Amino acid sequence: MLFFSTEKLGISLSKDCFDIIKYNLWLQGTCEELNMGGLEDAGGTKSGNPTITSVMVVIAMEAEALPSVETLKLVEDDQSSVFPKGAPWKKYSGKMDSGLVVHIVVPGKDKILGVDSVGTVPSSLLTYAAGVALQPDLIINAGTAGAFQAKGATIGDVYIATEFAHHDRRIPIPVFDKYGIGTMEAIPMDALIKDLKLKHGKLSTGNSLDMTVQDEEHIKANDATVKDMEGAAVAYVADLLAIPMISLKAVTDIVDGTKPTVEEFLENMSTAASALSRTVPLVLEYVFGRTVSELHYG
Ligand code: SAH
Repeated sequence: MLFFSTEKLGISLSKDCFDIIKYNLWLQGTCEELNMGGLEDAGGTKSGNPTITSVMVVIAMEAEALPSVETLKLVEDDQSSVFPKGAPWKKYSGKMDSGLVVHIVVPGKDKILGVDSVGTVPSSLLTYAAGVALQPDLIINAGTAGAFQAKGATIGDVYIATEFAHHDRRIPIPVFDKYGIGTMEAIPMDALIKDLKLKHGKLSTGNSLDMTVQDEEHIKANDATVKDMEGAAVAYVADLLAIPMISLKAVTDIVDGTKPTVEEFLENMSTAASALSRTVPLVLEYVFGRTVSELHYG
């Protein structure tokens, strides 16, 4: 553990800042104490690369998560040791017959309004805290999304994201403009995509379900096939934690179609959630025992 004097470093930290650092250290300590990583540590290495033996799946909405929780026979467990006290976040865990340890984490219901905590902020915080605590070999962000029929998408398709970007972070100052878009390439997964016959395309993330004219311009500039409200944020956090990440999105609505997004989303939510609950186990089975570099042909 690293101890330092802020005076010697010539910086001053606010109490909030200290609380965050303390929480972080506490989180790591708690996990070590509880040996939470121990469950996951069954795997070995192949040519020095770690094989995937534990996966954390981040899902924004409970209705998207519960069919997968049921299919995988995961059990909701006490998250008080992993998450901040009072947080609405939920964690479902289990060990597959193969030996793969799986955690599904959801940001839960907004404490005041009672709806799912969708969007970039809750999913980033959840990915960070749960990622630090559980130290998974792989993070999967699974959920629903809008998609463009002009790019070949249809309702119920499940897409793997090949690239992430934001479409609502407009900062028209040189270099900051690129930072705002935050383009990030996904890890190469051509073998996984081909073997499981999944669709693939670029994903653009923003904090709105609808799409303004300006959003549309940016989504097109991002060359996106799929549009969601969490993917690029989860990819950012996974990169920060140096944990490989896959995004799996089932299409609920056609963004460039004729039906209103909200109506189409609600109509197709259960179709997309069951498509996800069929695909998530296939991906989990595929990645188990492989190294990240074995997900592509190289
Ligand atoms: N009316 C819904 C709100 C869902 S918000 C409710 O019952 O609470 C939309 C969620 O689905 C987000 O997590 C987002 O990632 C995903 N999503 C589905 N279609 C989308 C679209 N067209 N644009 C952006 N996000 C979409």
